[in-house]
Amino acid sequence: MSRTASCHCRGLALECEGEPTKISLCNCLDCQRRTGSLFSVAAFFPREAVRIVKGAATSFSRSSASGYPVTFHFCDQCGSSLWWAPERMPYLVGVAVGAFADPSFAMPAQAVWTADKHHWLSFPEALSLHERNPPPKGAASQGHAPREGSADSFSPDNAQILPYEPHHFAGVDALWQKCFPDDPSRNRAAISVTDKMQFQPGLLFVAEIEGKVVGTAMAGYDGHRGWLYAVAVHPGQQRSGIGTLLVRRAEVALMTLGCRKINLQLRAENDRVSSFYHRLGYTAEARISMSKRLDPGRE
Ligand SMILES: [Zn+2]
Ligand SMILES: [Zn+2]
Repeated sequence: MSRTASCHCRGLALECEGEPTKISLCNCLDCQRRTGSLFSVAAFFPREAVRIVKGAATSFSRSSASGYPVTFHFCDQCGSSLWWAPERMPYLVGVAVGAFADPSFAMPAQAVWTADKHHWLSFPEALSLHERNPPPKGAASQGHAPREGSADSFSPDNAQILPYEPHHFAGVDALWQKCFPDDPSRNRAAISVTDKMQFQPGLLFVAEIEGKVVGTAMAGYDGHRGWLYAVAVHPGQQRSGIGTLLVRRAEVALMTLGCRKINLQLRAENDRVSSFYHRLGYTAEARISMSKRLDPGRE
C-alpha cells in the first residue's frame, strides 16, 4: 500500500510505500513554532520507502531538542513542511501526518517532550509519554554494538553526520589518505574538497565522533542522475553503521533535489564494498564505465 502526503497548495507531494515504522507526537517548542500548533505528529518511514512524486522541496536545518540536527523539507510556494530527516535516525524520514489528510490514519504510539506540553492538553492512555526523547530503538538495548551486516544498523550514539565545514579539512584529508591510499593525487582533499566547495557544497558530509572526522560521503546531482563518491569510514569505526548513516544522509539530500536514481562506481575487485552497497539496496548494472580527462595536464 502506498500513501501520498501533499503540501497545502498540493505543489509538493511525497509517496510513502508500506506502513510507517513508528508514529510519534512531539510537544517540543521547536515543533510548536514550526507548525504554529501545539504539537507535531510524524509518521516515520524507512528512507527507501519514500520518494518525491511532485514538485521540489526547499530545506531548512536546525539543531533539535535531542541535540541532533534535523533538516526540514517544505514547499517554497505555500510553506508547508512535508517531511524531515533527523540526524539522530538518518535511516528514517519523518512525514507530517496531517499532510496525508486522512483522519483514519493510525494513532501515534508515543508522545515525546511532554515537558513542553501545553498544560490543558491530555493524551489518550494508549500513548506512551516521554518527558524528553526516548533513545532510538535498538541503540538502547544494544548499547554501542550495532547489528553487523544489517542495512539499518545503528551508529554509536555519539556519531553525528554533519555538512562539511572548513574546520573538517585536516580530518577529511587524513581519512582519505588512510582509506584511499592508491588514489591519484588529483583525488586528494586539497583538490577534491576545494572543487566541491565551489559546486553543490552542501553535498559533502562528514561523520564526526567527539570532534574527530571518522567518515565522509560526497554526492552530486546533475539534473538527471545523482552520484555518490568518497564514502569512507575510518578503519577503527567500520562495521559500526556509520557508512550506512552517511549514505542515507547523502540519499536524502539527493532526493530533496529531485534526484530519482543514484549511480556510483566501485573498483571491480572490491567485494566487501559491493556487499555494503547491496545491503543498502544498490544493484550492479551491466555497464562499462568510461571516462575522459578534460585536464590532462593536471595530476
Ligand atoms: Zn505547497
Ligand atoms: Zn519536536
